[in-house]
Amino acid sequence: MTEITSIEFEKEVLQSGKVVLDFYSSECPPCEALAPKFESLAKLYGHDVKFLKIFRQKNRELADQLEVKSSPTLLFYDNGKEVGERLTGGIKRSDIIKNLNKLLPDSKVASISDKIKPIVSEYDVMILGAGPGGLTAGLYLCQAKINTVLIDIALPGGHVATTHEVSNYPGFIEPQAGYMLSHNMSEQTKLCGTAYKVAVDVTNVDLDKREVFLDEFETVKAKKIIIATGTSPNLMGIPGEKELKGKGISYCATCDAKYYGDKEVLVIGGGNSAVEESDFISKFASKITIVHQFDALTANKTAIEKLMANPKISTLLEHEPRSFKRDGDKIITEVEDLKTKKIKTLISDGVFIFIGMKPNIQLFKNKLTLDHWGYIKTDEDMRTSLPDVFAVGDVISKKYRQITTAVADGTIAAISIAKELN
Ligand SMILES: Cc1cc2nc3c(=O)[nH]c(=O)nc-3n(C[C@H](O)[C@H](O)[C@H](O)COP(=O)(O)OP(=O)(O)OC[C@H]3O[C@@H](n4cnc5c(N)ncnc54)[C@H](O)[C@@H]3O)c2cc1C
Repeated sequence: MTEITSIEFEKEVLQSGKVVLDFYSSECPPCEALAPKFESLAKLYGHDVKFLKIFRQKNRELADQLEVKSSPTLLFYDNGKEVGERLTGGIKRSDIIKNLNKLLPDSKVASISDKIKPIVSEYDVMILGAGPGGLTAGLYLCQAKINTVLIDIALPGGHVATTHEVSNYPGFIEPQAGYMLSHNMSEQTKLCGTAYKVAVDVTNVDLDKREVFLDEFETVKAKKIIIATGTSPNLMGIPGEKELKGKGISYCATCDAKYYGDKEVLVIGGGNSAVEESDFISKFASKITIVHQFDALTANKTAIEKLMANPKISTLLEHEPRSFKRDGDKIITEVEDLKTKKIKTLISDGVFIFIGMKPNIQLFKNKLTLDHWGYIKTDEDMRTSLPDVFAVGDVISKKYRQITTAVADGTIAAISIAKELN
């Protein structure tokens, strides 16, 4: 793996054969999650494809020239020409493999696949998701001397790792940087001895057999499973959103706000996430307009008061985005005035979307009893409708989704399981 700068781009990328280039940033959880996948694939494909990394913050001009607007972004080149699909955000190992395989002849792809040997590992408890809920369950189970593995498609920490400040987690007098709070939670659980399999692709989950398939070659089996997969941001589902995701539209302020120094951005949403993340974005951007569908913001009072005192932030209430378009460096957002039904055009350098969350249950939703909104129903011990399958944290049906409620669920599930296994 070689690190390059923009000066070497011409020689190392444009004048080379087959290349994959990773634009990464610091303080970027998806970049950190990508790093071990990129390294392990470099070992497999490194003889045939050149694996390069470039630090986006120090090579901004090149990133802008290539229209790289999100970290991480993977670009694939064949003899100087960009080919395949650009990959951004939470990048899956299988998607990188798909793009790498397209660069190579079938015989080469077959010989590389032959090198990947299947593995099976067994534990007492497998926890899917290493956010606050999963990490707490992992800690309690480990302290009860139960052989436990934590599995996550990203690095440990969950949403807390990408929240800039947490001021309501008990035990800390001053607000804590989210990444430090999640780092401490994760280190505490790891130090106890819980096994970690993180930044993996979870390609299949069989809840009946309690088996999970990782990275298309590793099977993990357990006597009990805890689902702690949390939630993901809702998409708006309007024209232009998919196309501009990672190219001016972002769902992660800690990942991308730093690239909007002295620029103007829109924030879509009006709840706690939108309001608190706007405050963070205002450390960089010169002007922020919050576009919200209702006639008042729905965040808590303290957050709204802080926002109102921030001269960089203004609100556009009772308006809803209808489409996004790119025009040169700018994002054009068409918004509808919900009172007059008239369409307005807003021009900005970037758009951040925070319009609520949906549960991460795609891999097992048909197996479990869910509530009306698709969250997993549990009993008071965090048992789901399937034997030996528990669920905790934001993914379950409940009224309040906070770090404290997730860690409480993790505690309850772990104690219940420890009693059953002992
Ligand atoms: C912007 C923002 C700010 C917030 N601020 C606060 C705050 O100040 N205070 C507060 O108390 N709460 C806050 N919250 C809420 C808090 O972050 C959540 O309630 C808490 O993180 C929930 O923990 P969890 O473990 O259930 O899920 P998450 O934190 O969502 O973690 C879930 C984990 O599961 C992983 N995962 C997903 N799918 C799979 C899969 N198929 N297999 C394996 N792993 C998977 C994810 O990668 C993730 O690491 C905030 C949330 C957001 C979005």
